[in-house]
Amino acid sequence: MIKTPYYLLNLQRLSANLNGLRVAFSTLWSNFLIGYSFKTNNLPWLTKWMHLNGTFAEVVSSAEYQQAKRVGFPINNIIFNGPVKGNEALLEAVKNGAIVNLDNFEEIEYLIQNLDCKIEQYEVGIRINFDLESVCPAETIPGKEPGRFGFNVENGDFEKAIHLLKKAGIKVVGIHGHHSTRTKSLKVFSVITSEICLLLHFLDKVKYIDLGGCIFGDKPGAPSFDEYASTVINILKANKVPSSVKLIMEPGAALVASPFSYVCKVVSRKDINGTRLVFTDGSIKHITSQMNTIKFASNCSSKSENIIHRQIISGYTCIEMDRFLEYIDKPELEIGDTITVSNTGAYSLSLAPLFIEFFPQVVVNDHDKLKVVREVWSINEFMQNNILDQ
Ligand SMILES: *Cc1c(COP(=O)(O)O)cnc(C)c1O
Repeated sequence: MIKTPYYLLNLQRLSANLNGLRVAFSTLWSNFLIGYSFKTNNLPWLTKWMHLNGTFAEVVSSAEYQQAKRVGFPINNIIFNGPVKGNEALLEAVKNGAIVNLDNFEEIEYLIQNLDCKIEQYEVGIRINFDLESVCPAETIPGKEPGRFGFNVENGDFEKAIHLLKKAGIKVVGIHGHHSTRTKSLKVFSVITSEICLLLHFLDKVKYIDLGGCIFGDKPGAPSFDEYASTVINILKANKVPSSVKLIMEPGAALVASPFSYVCKVVSRKDINGTRLVFTDGSIKHITSQMNTIKFASNCSSKSENIIHRQIISGYTCIEMDRFLEYIDKPELEIGDTITVSNTGAYSLSLAPLFIEFFPQVVVNDHDKLKVVREVWSINEFMQNNILDQ
């Protein structure tokens, strides 16, 4: 049975996003691969769907790596990134042909000490860290602070890492250049691609170029998949990168933000000082757990002809600012009306806390057929692994 609050996944929209990205890139570069970023939305049903629809898993921790295996990704369909992978998972991934992008010298040392005598057969990639901010001012997340991820090019760490791996016999076959930015601009992608092209000659053999994620999806007015693809691939061609080199993108939000919405129900109302406070069984914590905006697209089921000047739609938590929509001069919301907030697929479900309530349901809409793919949590799931002995 479906019950509010719940996340609702529109499967046709998800398919359209994935196909759109795939067609845009593979038309221009046939050796193209998508690694779905687990952290953006780690719903198990969704990650399995990605596997069944031909993406690789892009994971950044032992926990995500285990999930990828559990939902069916073979290890050689996993891209393993991240600064803290966990040694056991790192070793297993390298030994079994995952695409592993190393992030620090400790990982290199660990692999050199723990890979067996057939060390020459193993391949890894390297994540680069370079001063993107100086070429794209105000676009990066850390700004003038150094980025945390990968081997820095300017201070010599990148070359040192290559040297250490080569000396040990481990082949370096790929470069990973993901950068989170505020802008997701075409310029960011052209700068990252150019930087990678400059570094390719350091590799033993170039098997892949991984540009990471942080691109727009179907957001109106933003760069399109076609524009990202042509920007990047023109640079690869200008640099005479052979077409045998695999081009990898690791989208998260671009695929999953728009297909999800969040549905909750009105449970009570108060009028205070000219404002109608509308309480729902949902929460801003399920929409944006950082609570950084109340600007969401939404619609509601209200059939009332009564127009209310100002309605504030709020949640079940005891946080004063659990308010997620402001309706001005809109039909009166009545008890039992549902409110649907759009574009809630990225960094919502995977960041939702177990705060005050249990995790909500997730429902898939496939051509208007609804199916529950995650049951609401109960006290049983909440209590698992707890030890009450005093
Ligand atoms: C977060 C992340 C992504 C996906 O980012 P989106 O903004 O959701 O597209 C891809 N690759 C890496 C390494 C990441 O950390």
